[in-house]
Amino acid sequence: MADAPFLAYGRQVIEDDDLAAVAQALRADFLTTGPRVAQFEAAFAEKVGARHAIACSNGTAALHLAMLGLGVGPGDVVIAPTLTFAATANCARYQGAEVVFADVDPDTGLMTADTLAEAMTRIGGRPLKAVLPVHLNGHAADLPALKRVAEAAGAPLVEDAAHAVGTAMTFDNVPERVGDCRHSALTCFSFHPVKTLTTGEGGMVTTNDDALAQRVARLRSHGIVREPADFVDPEIGFDGEAPNPWAYEQQALGYNYRLPDVLCALGLSQLAKLDRFVERRRQLAQRYNELLPALAPLVRPVAQPWTSRSALHLFVVLIDFTAAGQTRRQVMEALRAKGIGTQVHYIPVHRQPYYRALYGEQTLSGAEAYYARCLSLPLQAGMADGDVDRVVGALGEVLGG
Ligand SMILES: *Cc1c(COP(=O)(O)O)cnc(C)c1O
Repeated sequence: MADAPFLAYGRQVIEDDDLAAVAQALRADFLTTGPRVAQFEAAFAEKVGARHAIACSNGTAALHLAMLGLGVGPGDVVIAPTLTFAATANCARYQGAEVVFADVDPDTGLMTADTLAEAMTRIGGRPLKAVLPVHLNGHAADLPALKRVAEAAGAPLVEDAAHAVGTAMTFDNVPERVGDCRHSALTCFSFHPVKTLTTGEGGMVTTNDDALAQRVARLRSHGIVREPADFVDPEIGFDGEAPNPWAYEQQALGYNYRLPDVLCALGLSQLAKLDRFVERRRQLAQRYNELLPALAPLVRPVAQPWTSRSALHLFVVLIDFTAAGQTRRQVMEALRAKGIGTQVHYIPVHRQPYYRALYGEQTLSGAEAYYARCLSLPLQAGMADGDVDRVVGALGEVLGG
């Protein structure tokens, strides 16, 4: 058999029309702050069903802008699940806020109303400013239930939807899309290359709140205001009644978190393929689900609760390594030798040295149980059905032998 190419756990799909869109953007007058930014934002807002979408330089910036937009600051508390990428917690630390880590369900990896309620017992009278559910693996967290718990403490939800662009779900028979902000103040997306839709680096914030949207859009670009109607200092802004053509006002301390036109062009082109990418990921996951029962009970796919149509950012299995008599490192390396890349999502954030130094040792047993077993298998929209067969076959050989 000829050597099959190495299969990474995730990889972008870039097609000829993506290249053409980028080339066209590179020949345009504006490489950044041009018309493609607003076009990408409008198309994205429409796709996810939000009033506003604000493009930014990456998913971490999107989360930071959400914290800034909500006015999260020193002494405030933000609750995030510990089973996530570090950025979910770091965005609060950028603002000097404290992170209280919530545990997760050991089978889904998702924060639940119960684990959120437990985390809320640990905030110690400090103001809770936001709760950040993570749609791990593309599976929507139970937003209505989380909202009920968070709302009781006066805190809005901010969704970390880095995994969930293209996820649709049904709560109480109402069809919803991740990003429509039906239950949250803001939703944050990432367009990193391993995510379902990519701009190389990129992110998006969606919201239905007009004032929040305006604040986030300004903070993305230094806190600068360009609309004369909103100027607060007549001396800089106006020559008598007439606005000075060069005038702008910095009214708050913002950042340069802009997404250039060149990348917005790629985003627009990729967005048009999102449904196809999600459909393909779901077909591949279906194939995994058909083949994996052969490896039960050692291996089983991560549980998917109420989500009706996950975009499946990752295809995660939970493996009983103890029963298999092998460590995760051994299994990963044996798969790698067979040309199959896997990854672990994630080391619980509360165990990272930075957070241990801040908050000490904590035991969050659901996250530990999930972390001990999880392994992300290859899932790319560009994979063939046969690739799934090859992965499951190899995993069977590795665990059996
Ligand atoms: C990728 C990711 C982020 C950060 O996105 P970047 O675009 O890499 O900054 C945040 N949260 C989660 C859960 C992610 O997977």
